[in-house]
Amino acid sequence: MAFTSIEQLEALAAQPTPLWRAIMTADAREQGLSEEESLRRMNGMWQAMRSASRDYSAAARSSSGLSGGDGQRMLDYAACGIGGEFFSQVIAEALKMGECNACMKRIVAAPTAGSCGVLPAVLIPFQQKHGTQDETMVHALYLAAAFGQVIASRACIAGAEGGCQAEVGAAAGMAAAALVFLKGGTVSAMAHACAIALGNLLGLVCDPVAGLVEVPCIKRNVIGAMAALSSADMALAGITSRIPADEVIDAMREVGDALPASLRETGRGGLAATPTGQKIARQLNLEPK
Ligand code: SF4
Repeated sequence: MAFTSIEQLEALAAQPTPLWRAIMTADAREQGLSEEESLRRMNGMWQAMRSASRDYSAAARSSSGLSGGDGQRMLDYAACGIGGEFFSQVIAEALKMGECNACMKRIVAAPTAGSCGVLPAVLIPFQQKHGTQDETMVHALYLAAAFGQVIASRACIAGAEGGCQAEVGAAAGMAAAALVFLKGGTVSAMAHACAIALGNLLGLVCDPVAGLVEVPCIKRNVIGAMAALSSADMALAGITSRIPADEVIDAMREVGDALPASLRETGRGGLAATPTGQKIARQLNLEPK
């Protein structure tokens, strides 16, 4: 996929071919695959997200001892959730995926391992709630991938380069677009949802305690998922981002460039630099980069 602007996706959506199919065709062409093989691979990613959720172990702990069990805690609490059971499930899924990553289990980097929880956190409960076919979920992943590809090409998707806005922010923008697709929204609404999600997470710094993708990363996936849900709902309600999506992405790149090195995955700033963050790093014998 060689998409470099959301405007390009909006123009493509004006063609008779469904947008997800045009994206799939572009993906197949770029990777030198048949369309069937591209679909098979994307379906493999969807099934891997579902397996990671299904195989989550409440007993698993990361080797640092910092992570594990919170996904189950949230599931146990789900029925009492302030935002209702669906929201609790979204929170639980995000925590589960982040913990799976910290525990070195198989996850799907979407777009990165650190932000692997955002897309499954909204897509898996969505499918459970609406009974959506796997085929449609795979189509939604193509939409998410295209939005992610534009973000990667105009800005970046690495915390070390652009801060956490580039990881969890990008994942939230991708998930917001996918949710709008699943609800039958237009590509313009997808663009607004992506712009709102990314815009609301602009400036999010990358500050992993002890340099491990655990604190605050796992819980930050929850915030990304919540941003995706609220942004998708706003866009579907007809609320627009005053700043076009491409300009929000460009702003994200500029903010990322302006971030000091201490807030770009070095473990030297933000939460990593707090007394407790430093104490944890010392206890684990992990010096900042
Ligand atoms: S804080 Fe840094 S390492 Fe953690 S998820 Fe965000 S970008 Fe990734």
